[in-house]
Amino acid sequence: MPYRSIPVTPFEQNCSVVWCDVTKECAFVDPGGDVDQLQAFVTQQGLKPVAVWLTHGHLDHVGGTLPLAEAYQIPIIGPHEGDKYWLDALPRQSQMFGFPPHEAFTPHQWLKHGDTLTLGKQRFEVRHTPGHTPGHVVLIDHSENRVFAGDVLFSGSIGRTDFPGGNHQQLLDSITQQLFTLDDHVTVIPGHGPNTTIGEERSYNPYVRQQ
Ligand SMILES: [Zn+2]
Ligand SMILES: [Zn+2]
Repeated sequence: MPYRSIPVTPFEQNCSVVWCDVTKECAFVDPGGDVDQLQAFVTQQGLKPVAVWLTHGHLDHVGGTLPLAEAYQIPIIGPHEGDKYWLDALPRQSQMFGFPPHEAFTPHQWLKHGDTLTLGKQRFEVRHTPGHTPGHVVLIDHSENRVFAGDVLFSGSIGRTDFPGGNHQQLLDSITQQLFTLDDHVTVIPGHGPNTTIGEERSYNPYVRQQ
């Protein structure tokens, strides 16, 4: 299943467009903004958007959600309900991050640990990974050995936990219990910065290194 990461917003957030080669159906994972660019990509590739999938409620990950949901009449799925307070606070987040004003929204579906998302013939496993935010989820494409990790784990770093609702120990537990149980060769597609692998981070990430 192909995907393309497109950095959006001044925070260079990696919005991933994931699609099924057979049906051309696609989903937007964390469309933080720069909606024109995302729409141009979809048109150019001849894709048919069917959903927006959100890992967590931070504005740089969700800021383009409403215009995309409206333009394509598609459902907003995720994050876990623990992030409802972030989505409710989107107007305040806009001020906090210096973004244009943004209205609050409620997803069509909250995600839970163990849920499965489907796209064409492909399936994605949902794991609840709180710590950076209480309702953070990661999406695992087992057949392609990929995980869309949002702001849980980065190349050489981990998510911030100094926002309201953040919890450092919980984040470490999410990484060791939900991500490090994946194979070493699984690719991590983080919300910011370059891709990495589970093995690379297990061996070298100074915050969570496991010997
Ligand atoms: Zn975040
Ligand atoms: Zn982020």
